[in-house]
Amino acid sequence: MSIEVSRVSKLFGDFVALDDVSVSIPTGQLTALLGPSGGGKSTLLRIIAGLEQADTGRIDIEGRDATRLPARKRNVGFVFQHYAAFKHLSVARNVAFGLEIRKTPKDQTADRVHELLKLVHLEQFADRLPSQLSGGQRQRMALARALAIQPSVLLLDEPFGALDAKVRKELRDWLRRLHDEIPVTTVFVTHDQEEALEVADEIVVINNGRIEQVGSPDELYDAPANYFVMSFLGPVT
Ligand code: ADP
Ligand code: MG
Repeated sequence: MSIEVSRVSKLFGDFVALDDVSVSIPTGQLTALLGPSGGGKSTLLRIIAGLEQADTGRIDIEGRDATRLPARKRNVGFVFQHYAAFKHLSVARNVAFGLEIRKTPKDQTADRVHELLKLVHLEQFADRLPSQLSGGQRQRMALARALAIQPSVLLLDEPFGALDAKVRKELRDWLRRLHDEIPVTTVFVTHDQEEALEVADEIVVINNGRIEQVGSPDELYDAPANYFVMSFLGPVT
């Protein structure tokens, strides 16, 4: 129930980026939005986030019609590929940011930030600047920051795409572990089949602005709905 996308279409000029897309993402699930480049993944994620408006269709989040709600009222946490940290703020202040702008009491903010930094193993880096972190550490900080506001939905767009293979694999495990610890309804975009198959509870395959299949990694692998899904998943080596 948690995220309901109903008959969403989006055009850029004449180009149909999303073509009558409907999909349900259950509460507490870790879902991968998987597909080739240009398939419409980011557009769909941005529409769920409220960063972009659909031309037609409807978005419900937690049983509430969010179609016309601005992003800041959707209680959504984001992580992007190129994470925009506040360069002049410490790691702790970066994580605290969403809480501070919501005027959360200081002691409560401090507790929450401490707890999150511990969770992503960055407590010893609390006072550093983001520039003093590695790429992987910075994305862990981004995860902590997105979770700080206790979002009802966590959205990640190719969160590990800019990192090298080893760190990417590490962060995959982090995402899985964090999700098991804090089971926020999560959608992460990836074009990496292996990433989706290894991490997600359920995979939504999207191509050319249409949903090709929704299923668990096993279902997709054992029973691809069509030739596209079969060839896209391919034999993972
Ligand atoms: P993905 O994230 O799966 O790679 P996107 O959702 O970013 O795909 O884009 C889907 C298609 O829509 C692409 O062909 C892209 O070029 C096009 N597109 C996305 N955003 C815009 C935009 N603001 N203006 C024009 N075309 C866009
Ligand atoms: Mg994209």
